Amino acid sequence: VLRISNLHKRFDDNEVLRGVDLTVGDGQVVGLIGSSGAGKSTLLRCVNFLEKPDEGRFSIDDFTVDAATASKKDIAALRRLTAMVFQSFNLYKLKTVAENVELALTDVQGVPKREARETALDFLNRVGLYDKRNSFPDKLSGGQQQRVALARAAVLRPKVMLLDEPTSALDPENVGEVLDVIRALADEGQSMIIASHEMNFLYQVADHVAFMDQGKIVEEGSAEDVFRHPEHDRTKQFLSRVR
Ligand code: ATP
Ligand code: MG
Repeated sequence: VLRISNLHKRFDDNEVLRGVDLTVGDGQVVGLIGSSGAGKSTLLRCVNFLEKPDEGRFSIDDFTVDAATASKKDIAALRRLTAMVFQSFNLYKLKTVAENVELALTDVQGVPKREARETALDFLNRVGLYDKRNSFPDKLSGGQQQRVALARAAVLRPKVMLLDEPTSALDPENVGEVLDVIRALADEGQSMIIASHEMNFLYQVADHVAFMDQGKIVEEGSAEDVFRHPEHDRTKQFLSRVR
């Protein structure tokens, strides 16, 4: 279980996160929705300290980190327990597909190279890219690159995966294959937070949906509740605009 409590973040005089609380249960998929600028990316980036939160607390099971006093060791531990997937894939361009996945294990977790290679190939197989193992990322479609990024994150067996608009940089014809991989990971019990504008997908895959507006979560509940029976005006407004 990941618990985010009272998370605050400002950029100069722009208060981007204004006291966010969010819980992700084991095996749970949380969909994070909201207008552009609501703070979704900042929230995800704060969870693994790609942005340093001003205030707040994270706990994963019985491990707790206070943003204000987090040590390097705490941050490293938090990063090991989470894994981020970006809109823009962020693969190592000069490494092959297999190396990209393998390096997550050898560099982040210190897994011996042979074992890392074996596990990497297993995960590439799962995302349907075993055949591309020796290719370089720029020879792959956007959808394939994102599937590599998903394999690279999932191979770490993070407690929670953080997906920031995993399909928004893709050509429409590549979106489906990436959503299928995310769905398969979810079905295997991988906990995740998915910030996305793919409402139909989130409706299908998310156990819990949180709607963010101006740095706060103003409404959350089951996908059914939030999408079908939104209560707050801001949620209704947002959903009527994106549908
Ligand atoms: P989108 O749906 O467009 O991805 P978002 O909900 O992810 O939006 P964020 O990217 O978290 O929104 O941005 C929230 C606010 O924080 C915006 O006003 C943005 O300009 C600001 N912001 C984000 N990152 C930085 C930064 N590194 N420096 C300054 N301001 C930032
Ligand atoms: Mg964003």
